[in-house]
Amino acid sequence: MTKTTELSRRRLMQASAALGAGEFSVLHAAELFLLEAVGGAVFGLAIGWLGFIAMRGIDEHNMEVLITLAMVMGGYALVGGPFPLAAGIAKAIQMKGGDEICICFLGDAANNQGTFHESLNMAKLWNLPVLYVCENNLYSVYSPMAVRQPANRDICANARALGLAAWAGDGNDAEDVCHVAADAVAHIRAGNGPAFVEFSTYRWREHCGPNYDNDIGYRNAAEFEGWRSRCPIGNAEARLEQAGTDVAALRAAAEREIDAEIAAAFDFARRSSFPIRDRALDPVYAQ
Ligand SMILES: [Mg+2]
Repeated sequence: MTKTTELSRRRLMQASAALGAGEFSVLHAAELFLLEAVGGAVFGLAIGWLGFIAMRGIDEHNMEVLITLAMVMGGYALVGGPFPLAAGIAKAIQMKGGDEICICFLGDAANNQGTFHESLNMAKLWNLPVLYVCENNLYSVYSPMAVRQPANRDICANARALGLAAWAGDGNDAEDVCHVAADAVAHIRAGNGPAFVEFSTYRWREHCGPNYDNDIGYRNAAEFEGWRSRCPIGNAEARLEQAGTDVAALRAAAEREIDAEIAAAFDFARRSSFPIRDRALDPVYAQ
């Protein structure tokens, strides 16, 4: 599509690779991508439609944006909803003889859903090329692990019980994330079927939004500060500094690039056309 879309596609992939940086970076990248690719190119400033568009696809042009170009299926509102869809995509890849791997992201609560067990069972049975990536931030919105599953149960054990190879890693350590992800991808590419990885991390801000929510009492300050001291970006910077890198210059350059990219994305969307009235019902009924 456009240069800016290509930039955001790259940013999305970088963000996905740097899962340890936390869910916000991935969401940020996805927002940018949708804002310019879908909002700009297809529906102008129809921001309110984006979630729906991401899930359903409006037409062949939009589907091309989301699937062919970006290879992103978008987000789903139902916890556990993507598991069977990911297995289905992996089945399609297998039937077409492709070499792609479908990557399905989940939170620590989703592995308690029925769809998790059903989908991973079929993925293993059919030897599908799918990688499930669990971001374990200890909370399902405001509920800690202790009220959601028996004590000391290892999330990876759930996947292993269904026959998948599974690895756990430090989600706040970018290098560890890369190594664990590389091992899982190599396992799938060697024809061993689906794999599962779990990265431990923490959510600093509220479940949905940019604010801190420590005032509502579901977690304590000591826990919060303990995790904040393990900032994945801070850790990576410290490591680079030790290796002799000029971290301040590197950070300044990165921030300039990101600011320019965000400005370009907004500019692109603002210059794009508004929604087309006659097509308002297109995604509602089958054609
Ligand atoms: Mg969670």
